[in-house]
Amino acid sequence: MNRQWIYAVRPDGPVSVDNFEYRETEVPEPGDGQALARLCYLSFEPAMRTWLEDFITYMPPAPLGQPMVGPGVFQVVESNTPALNEGDLVSGMMSWQDYEVVGEQTRVVPPGTPIPVMLGPMGGTGLTAYIGLLDIGRPQPGETVLTSGAAGATGSVAAQIARIKGCRSVGIAGGADKCRWLLEEARLDAAIDYKNEDVDARLAELCPDGVDVYFDNVGGDMLETVMGHMNMGGRVAVCGAISTYNQGMRRPGPSNMFEIIEKRLTLQGFVMFDHMDRVPAASADLGQWVAEGEIAFQTDIQEGFDNIPTTFLRLFNGANHGKQLLRVRDPE
Ligand code: NAP
Repeated sequence: MNRQWIYAVRPDGPVSVDNFEYRETEVPEPGDGQALARLCYLSFEPAMRTWLEDFITYMPPAPLGQPMVGPGVFQVVESNTPALNEGDLVSGMMSWQDYEVVGEQTRVVPPGTPIPVMLGPMGGTGLTAYIGLLDIGRPQPGETVLTSGAAGATGSVAAQIARIKGCRSVGIAGGADKCRWLLEEARLDAAIDYKNEDVDARLAELCPDGVDVYFDNVGGDMLETVMGHMNMGGRVAVCGAISTYNQGMRRPGPSNMFEIIEKRLTLQGFVMFDHMDRVPAASADLGQWVAEGEIAFQTDIQEGFDNIPTTFLRLFNGANHGKQLLRVRDPE
């Protein structure tokens, strides 16, 4: 039996479990040049909410009536291609079902790295943080770097790279626990609890000389507030806009756009997979920093196939502490 979570109903507002439907089907048969792989771990990304819309972003829309697409790690259980061996772990864009037919081009996970590390700081979010902060934000030692979503998978790595590079690193996150983690484990210089504090007032207090680089994971009102604190020539690495993903795509921008002219700001969006040439250098540095304990990270591993949709929702209420994963089974 192949269990599936189907993308059944397009959301009109916040995504909910009702947008997905549980189904059971036959286990598919791999054809020539294909392999059958069994689900081990799923990884969840806020941008998957934008894939539920009926238009193309940098990803095509998730097809309705099909298992929901999403990143995951599967294990090959039957193979009709010499490119994939039984027992191989494969990763990439998969879907929410027990069994996936994969092709010869599927990425084989090199043995050795534990899956939570591979999907966490060494995975797509770690690479996004590295490229976004260093190549787009271009911080200089001594500058003030502000990161929103700072206790999350991407933000936590970006904020710590800022510290490693000799910047004053300030993070914004929701709740006292996350802010404590930022100060005590991630060793940031300061943290702002946006759910319980006035971000504008706290920025004035904690960044009296302004912000040079803003690594933006949140967009919306928070971007508008931060723009008021940017320094002349400041850079905003526009990584994500999670505060707006549940509102469809026609979202108003900041009302203080004139700050961009007045302060000669650069706001630059980026998508990690446009920068694949940087992956070897990024992986080497991230691997070293993780091994040396310079980058602290949290992985939030939920359990069980039944909990796949509810685990996705955790990203939008901040229930996740670090990289959101779900384990269905460990590889054999
Ligand atoms: P994450 O930060 O681990 O999890 C999402 C976090 O967003 C939640 O824990 C929550 O933290 C925060 N959040 C949710 N709703 C919010 C709201 N209304 N206002 C402020 N914060 C809110 O997820 P991630 O995978 O690392 O993704 C972070 C961002 O990076 C997302 O915007 C994502 O789209 C983007 N991203 C971009 C790329 C790229 O290539 N450009 C690649 C990967 C990810 P709190 O508890 O602190 O609220």
